[in-house]
Amino acid sequence: MPERIPAALQEKLIDRLTFYQDIGIQLFYRDRYPRQLASVTEEIPLPRPVQKPLPVMKSVLQARPVPPKPDVFPVTSGPSLFEAMNRIPDDTLLKIQTDLGDCTRCKLHRGRTKLVFGDGNPKADLVFVGEGPGRDEDAQGLPFVGRAGKLLTQMIEAMGLQRNDVYICNVVKCRPPENRTPEKDEVETCSPFLLRQLDAISPKVIVCLGSVAAQTLLETNRGISHFRGEWLDFRGRKLMATYHPAYLLRNPNAKGEVWKDLQKVMVALGLQGKKGSQAGKSS
Ligand code: URA
Repeated sequence: MPERIPAALQEKLIDRLTFYQDIGIQLFYRDRYPRQLASVTEEIPLPRPVQKPLPVMKSVLQARPVPPKPDVFPVTSGPSLFEAMNRIPDDTLLKIQTDLGDCTRCKLHRGRTKLVFGDGNPKADLVFVGEGPGRDEDAQGLPFVGRAGKLLTQMIEAMGLQRNDVYICNVVKCRPPENRTPEKDEVETCSPFLLRQLDAISPKVIVCLGSVAAQTLLETNRGISHFRGEWLDFRGRKLMATYHPAYLLRNPNAKGEVWKDLQKVMVALGLQGKKGSQAGKSS
């Protein structure tokens, strides 16, 4: 008698397969020596990065010494916010969170329930940066736990990772009213803490989810579609901008594009072809 798949696992499987279909994965194969069912939920250890030379990166920031093209950098007419900030020696997420405290530095604090600092592996090779907390995140104090978060989790798992292998945070730590886009002063007040988080974690790759994260870190107001899926440089780290999961919920046809971007990230992290990774199954 074939073993029956428990109902909860069936539901997870349907979700996962639907997601794979959405991102264009159609071919599946079974392990020659199938693992036990229970192992489907086992933790997959974070694969060690491959020490390969980094590919040559295009850099938005590289252009800074030369007067920037007006259509690329109209937002940053003054000095670079990030270049002016030095790395703080021995900084840790705990120190940053302590410094942030019960923050009232900008007007967003007035409407928040919980400040959403960030979550995940403090030594992650991969950091996802979103825009700002939504309703669910504000209620729970954790990033990406609503519908968009569920999709992000599926994407992370499709990469062969678990949520707690990576680090997830946002540009602003408090929910903007009615989920509006964070305003310039709010981004400017909060993003030094994001910068410290990125410096403290020191990931190999940063993935910006959506234009707010990408435009903030790259200090540009160029539309994300112009540089999505390209390797860029952020203070010497590899940065990839891709569409926000909330955008994918409204435009499911774009999931395939995002999956292509994430596959590049997987290659950069040496995740392609690892146990648990779906990378080899893309069409
Ligand atoms: N959208 C974001 O940008 N961040 C979250 O944490 C949740 C939704």
